[in-house]
Amino acid sequence: MHYTFLETPVEYLKGVGSARAELLKKELQLFSFGDLLTFFPFRYIDRSKFVKISEITDDTAYVQIKAKVVRIQTLGSFRNQRLVATIRDESGEIDLVWFQGLKWIADKLTPLQEYIIFGKPTLFNGRFNIPHPELEIPSTPPLPLSETIRPVYGSTEKLKSKGLDYKGITKLMKNLLLNEKFQMPENLTREILNQLHLLNRQDAFTNIHFPKSPELLFKAQARLKFEELFFIQLRLAKQRSGRMEKKTGLLFPKVGDYVNRFYHHHLTFPLTNAQKRVIKEIRADLGSGNQMNRLLQGDVGSGKTLVALMTMLIAVDNHCQCCLMAPTEILANQHYQTISGILSGMDIHVQLLTGSTRAALRRTVRDGLLDGTIQMLIGTHALLEENVRFKKLGLVVIDEQHRFGVAQRARLWKKNEITPHILVMTATPIPRTLAMTLYGDLDVSVIDEMPPGRKTIQTRHVYDQERQKIYDFLRSKIRHGRQSYIVYPLIQESETLDLKNLVDGYQTILSEFSSPEFSVGMVHGQMKQQEKDAVMKQFIENKIQILVATTVIEVGVDVPNATVMLIENADRFGLSQLHQLRGRVGRGQDQSFCILISGYKLSSEAHERLQTMVRTTDGFEIAETDLRLRGPGDLLGTQQSGILNLRIADIVKDEQILQFSRNLANQIIIDDPSLKKEKNDILAQHLNHIEQHSQNWGLIS
Ligand code: ADP
Ligand code: MG
Repeated sequence: MHYTFLETPVEYLKGVGSARAELLKKELQLFSFGDLLTFFPFRYIDRSKFVKISEITDDTAYVQIKAKVVRIQTLGSFRNQRLVATIRDESGEIDLVWFQGLKWIADKLTPLQEYIIFGKPTLFNGRFNIPHPELEIPSTPPLPLSETIRPVYGSTEKLKSKGLDYKGITKLMKNLLLNEKFQMPENLTREILNQLHLLNRQDAFTNIHFPKSPELLFKAQARLKFEELFFIQLRLAKQRSGRMEKKTGLLFPKVGDYVNRFYHHHLTFPLTNAQKRVIKEIRADLGSGNQMNRLLQGDVGSGKTLVALMTMLIAVDNHCQCCLMAPTEILANQHYQTISGILSGMDIHVQLLTGSTRAALRRTVRDGLLDGTIQMLIGTHALLEENVRFKKLGLVVIDEQHRFGVAQRARLWKKNEITPHILVMTATPIPRTLAMTLYGDLDVSVIDEMPPGRKTIQTRHVYDQERQKIYDFLRSKIRHGRQSYIVYPLIQESETLDLKNLVDGYQTILSEFSSPEFSVGMVHGQMKQQEKDAVMKQFIENKIQILVATTVIEVGVDVPNATVMLIENADRFGLSQLHQLRGRVGRGQDQSFCILISGYKLSSEAHERLQTMVRTTDGFEIAETDLRLRGPGDLLGTQQSGILNLRIADIVKDEQILQFSRNLANQIIIDDPSLKKEKNDILAQHLNHIEQHSQNWGLIS
């Protein structure tokens, strides 16, 4: 077997061997030399800078200290034995601790000698010490410039146990870069390199690992960030342009009978202007001959369901079937109830299909889909199953897209010979930068207006101690005929513990709100579907006034009479989750309230989350804050799907580079839509390479 340098398996690298190779693959997904080279340092240490001992705090990561050893002691016995060396600089003292190799280190240490100490301070019994630090005698003359900035690589406990801590990995990188065959082929055109004054690829890779100077480090970072974002944008631009050009979508030329009848006789309220505008945008897509690929963003309660319904009616008017997929059974059921209710008397065959649809009915549904008698199918993941086939599927609507894996969604696209039109709806506003990276090839519609008569939800953050006051408040609201949700977080240690947390809360609420005046119900994810539905039904019919729940009620549930959302341990929820939960109230005419309860002890991030909720109900503002606090991976659960596994760029911090790379990619694709021109060969080749090497890529749209 002959490998190119970059394709060479990691075990062939000097210093790796089969055991380490196994770990590198398993722990870091690094299989080849090329993978290893793109495992970039997550920070750098400037060996010319020192921290004062007195400046060490809780957040201090690795530090470099210049200090004298003032005391050396061996403490404890047997397995507890440790070597403690106390060091002192002009600001204070700190202990260095070794648990292994005591004798060897004790011999090497010289009292009153000045050392450069490098390590990670940890808090032990209320004091900082530095376990197993690195020691060096200050060199005279000082380090050469090329040695002053050193990389720090991420590692794991398992890797460390095989000697692959950041230093071990540094050694491997050195071996790799010193290899005479090391060469990073350029993947940007000369034109781009010159125009943007970018470092060439070889120099960028060399300097990202072993920067020769701070300036070169900066240039290496800029080049690699640009490269990463640029190829994402180039691919999205190319895809989008391909979709536009081919005219391969189903053509829905008319707005027919169903839409007209619905609009004039079944719709009980006027559409908001935003709804009208969005429906127009969708109409234009469907009538263009292109395949629609549209993302519909609209805050909770903004009336997306209605837009989906009208879009589905257009499909039906054009003799196509359509389906709507929701992330949970509760939601699918609710959509089914709402939609078949609104459509009653219109002679449209709507069907529900979920995991709990009985086998006999399932068969009937499958037959009805195949022969085309079922026109609208509403359901959950069950729709994705292989044996769910349509006669002519023309439109797929996906509610709350981020709950579905990318690969899952792609399975729906394939259910018709000609890819059906796609409308993806989300109530999680996606920050612009993220949308650009993730959905760059989707067209975006925004409903930025609420149906009339809604009052802004009042939000408060209160501490545990005020719970009685809050219960009194709840009581008064319920006595006025309203209902309330009380939500408990998943603590995620174990499902059993989560349940206990919820059940304890339920007991508290039961004893606080005595029957017969109040009736309390509970729903959680581990209940059977029928049980959940039964409780939800009672809540919808106001037979239950207080619903104690986990986040299973997070999405979509619509009970306008519920006006209080009480969230326990609110600090444990993410911002977008809090926003979603809050969206369960404020859906009727009455003033609604969201009460966030937490303990006094809050991390600064949790505090900022709660403050953000109190300050604003603007979903976009909340999403931007969320993105800033958590980073993009967590935000949409895209970490696993691998789409946003950015190696070096950060779409929050590198927004400018992102914008720039997007513009450039668009220009290039406008000039050369399928990258056929000779000058773009190098780009086409690299794009091809990326597509082959990451399966997930093909599935974005
Ligand atoms: P979401 O965007 O969160 O899915 P829904 O589609 O569930 O919102 O709509 C929320 C509520 O607003 C529903 O009860 C729906 O009937 C109602 N609604 C939707 N559009 C309008 C409108 N134009 N005027 C008044 N009420 C509306
Ligand atoms: Mg909805």
